[in-house]
Amino acid sequence: MSLFQFTSRRLVSQAYCGLKPSSSKKQKLCLEMARPNSNMADFREVFAKAKHIAIITGAGVSAESGVPTFRGTGGYWRKWQAQELATPEAFARNSSRVWEFYHYRRELMLSKQPNPAHIAIAECEARLSKQGRSVVVITQNIDELHRKAGTKHLLEIHGSLFKTRCTSCGNVAKNYKSPICPALAGKGAPDPEIEDAKIPVENLPRCEEQGCNGLLRPHVVWFGETLNSDILTEVENELEICDLCLVVGTSSVVYPAAMFAPQVSARGVPVAEFNMQATPATNRFRFHFPGPCGTTLPPALARHKTEIIS
Ligand SMILES: [Zn+2]
Repeated sequence: MSLFQFTSRRLVSQAYCGLKPSSSKKQKLCLEMARPNSNMADFREVFAKAKHIAIITGAGVSAESGVPTFRGTGGYWRKWQAQELATPEAFARNSSRVWEFYHYRRELMLSKQPNPAHIAIAECEARLSKQGRSVVVITQNIDELHRKAGTKHLLEIHGSLFKTRCTSCGNVAKNYKSPICPALAGKGAPDPEIEDAKIPVENLPRCEEQGCNGLLRPHVVWFGETLNSDILTEVENELEICDLCLVVGTSSVVYPAAMFAPQVSARGVPVAEFNMQATPATNRFRFHFPGPCGTTLPPALARHKTEIIS
């Protein structure tokens, strides 16, 4: 994952305006010429004509629902951040601790709700599908808030907190149990002074496929793991046909959007960013709407006057 991020950032910065870093004068000129459009009426005209809309969402959408990322300043579960626990090595070393972490995150999601951005996306999909138009959501978020809001066409490139994968037979299953297994009941408290529960591995979540009983793990993409190639193929197909791309709650220069948005933009397809701040690369995209996406997105995706609803 970090490799993708690094590669994409480098590609974006190299491709940016087609200029070398030394050409600062030309770069400045390019910046001034290519300032993105923040006019909602202009965006709405493009939106009204779009038949296939791809919406790439990142952590910012979840953050507006109060979902913690366990990254950055103050982002700790006990003494650790996500990048120390969300790895195959951490799971091999201490499956009990990693399961406590994920159990905590699953239970926490019971109290979190989709925000106006999730809802605007889901409503837009439902409405446009009646007009023979499509919306696909490509997300790195694992909290299923898009699904909870009603999104149907959802590509979860990092998997889901509510899916498990068997480490023996590989079976992937939906799992909404609370707690996920009896031994984790009441465990997973995030406070730094809490001791590990040290649950024996046989009492951690186990596979229910007949005759398997293998250890289950969360079906999420951990640091150091590659993305599922079937999902990536689906993403590629969607990006190939989209005629409007929205980047929501993340930046087009940050993974995962950095992997996808530049190729869409290179086809001449409009890309619109809805996030807190512009970055230098924002200038490569058609539209930018700064601010919380729960505020900016609902009016952007509301019914357009030209939409005919049967
Ligand atoms: Zn199994």
